[in-house]
Amino acid sequence: MATPSLHDVIIIGSGPAGLTAAVYAARANLVPLVLEGEVSSTSDQPGGQLMLTTDVENFPGFPDGIMGPELMARFRAQALRFGADIRTEKVSRVDFSAAPYGVWVGSADVSEPTYRAHSVIVSTGAQSLMLGLPGESRLLGHGVSTCATCDGFFFRDHEIAVVGGGDSAIEEATFLTKFASKVTLIVRRDQLRASKIMQDRVAHNPKIEIRWNSVVTEIVGETRLEHIVVQDVQTAETTTLAATGLFVAIGHRPNTDLLKGQLDLEDNGYLITGHWGGASTTNVAGVFACGDVQDHTYRQAITAAGSGCQAAIDAERWLEAQHG
Ligand code: NDP
Repeated sequence: MATPSLHDVIIIGSGPAGLTAAVYAARANLVPLVLEGEVSSTSDQPGGQLMLTTDVENFPGFPDGIMGPELMARFRAQALRFGADIRTEKVSRVDFSAAPYGVWVGSADVSEPTYRAHSVIVSTGAQSLMLGLPGESRLLGHGVSTCATCDGFFFRDHEIAVVGGGDSAIEEATFLTKFASKVTLIVRRDQLRASKIMQDRVAHNPKIEIRWNSVVTEIVGETRLEHIVVQDVQTAETTTLAATGLFVAIGHRPNTDLLKGQLDLEDNGYLITGHWGGASTTNVAGVFACGDVQDHTYRQAITAAGSGCQAAIDAERWLEAQHG
């Protein structure tokens, strides 16, 4: 069996947090190894959640906005320019019990890790929550979607639905009105969670109709979505909605399955940071975390990028203190 290669820094994940950490670590001559992940589902891919976004209008430096995938391509190119070693590999297991830390890609059952590192930066992000209804995963990509950017084009002049009442749902619904003839927003309460500015967007968009106090109870179709069944939670009355597209936008879950038993997690699954000095420190010395995997409050590309910068500086200082 091959001896694992030893690295100063391994960065797990390649969203704004991971790639900003890569830029900083590379410019500090640490030659970071970035394990960017692989496309394994519509909500899990290299580049993170911005790969599923349309216009990003609030990332400073882009006064006219920029498409999410284009922004991530620029992050990646910048990290490569300074010597980051970016590999399209998905981490299957980590061992943070003793340094240098073990990181596996591919089979998690082999005893020897694929890589070892003096420090690790975890930036595995978060992913979309799903409704959990029968048919949902089968029809994902066949009418059911979590990504208006990727799939909106296919619904030109169709009637479609979006589930959720937060900023994501409003953003998706608004974007989808560029294509669809009508968008029904299905909201489980009698009010939106979304920010005021986003609520105003819905109120002024004649193509969006809101179904208050409503939930999707059935997703129907053999090979393509044919319709959905919507229930009014106050009257229990059900109606059929002839939607050819259903966009699920009900929030996110941190990607921490890999880290259970290795790092301290909050009850909601997010990583706990700020343990011993730097903002990105975890309960294991030399292991740092940044981005949405440890942030359920802000969850913005710019805050993720900022925390990636902090993680790289924390790792650099820690390595300096350990190894000189
Ligand atoms: P949120 O958690 O803010 O909202 C989730 C929405 O989905 C809520 O309305 C919630 O209802 C609803 N929901 C949750 N589970 C279900 C379910 N099983 N069935 C039906 N409805 C459900 O998530 P978002 O992804 O919208 O936003 C996450 C964060 O990202 C927020 O901080 C947001 O501000 C930010 N964001 C900002 C954007 C921007 O500024 N451009 C764009 C997108 C996101 P309920 O309210 O009843 O809990």
